[in-house]
Amino acid sequence: MKTRAERRALRKRTCRHFRGTVNAECAAGIVYESLTDGAPGWARRLPCFGDAGAAVCAQYSALTDAEFAEADRGARAAMERLEKLAPRVAEIRKEYAGRDVRLVETCPACGKRIALEHHGANGHVWAACETPGCIGFME
Ligand SMILES: [Zn+2]
Repeated sequence: MKTRAERRALRKRTCRHFRGTVNAECAAGIVYESLTDGAPGWARRLPCFGDAGAAVCAQYSALTDAEFAEADRGARAAMERLEKLAPRVAEIRKEYAGRDVRLVETCPACGKRIALEHHGANGHVWAACETPGCIGFME
C-alpha cells in the first residue's frame, strides 16, 4: 500500500499523455503495449510513470510544477463539491432504501440542476450536475 506522499509523487511523475491502460493508446497516440515486450505484467513496465529503468517513450512528458499545482487545486475543488453533496446522498440512500428513484434537485455546489438516481437493488447513487465540470459520478 502506497502512502499519500508516494501516490502524490507518482502522480507528479506520470506522463501528461497517460490515460489508463483500459485504452489501447495514450493521448499522444502511442500504443501502450508497443512500448514493452508485451510479456505478462507489461503495464507495470511502461515508461509512463517516470521510473528509472523502465522502457523509454519519446513522448514522455511529466507535468510542470505549475501544471501539477493547478491539477491539485482542481482535484481539491472537485472533492469539496462532492463533500457538499454527500449529506444529501446519505439521506437519499436512507429515504429510498430498496427502491429505484430519479430526482432533479438544486446542486449544492453550483445552484444549478443536478440529476440524482438511486438504485434500490444495490444502493448505488448516480449524480450528474448540468454544469459542465461540476459534480458527476456513478457508483
Ligand atoms: Zn453543480
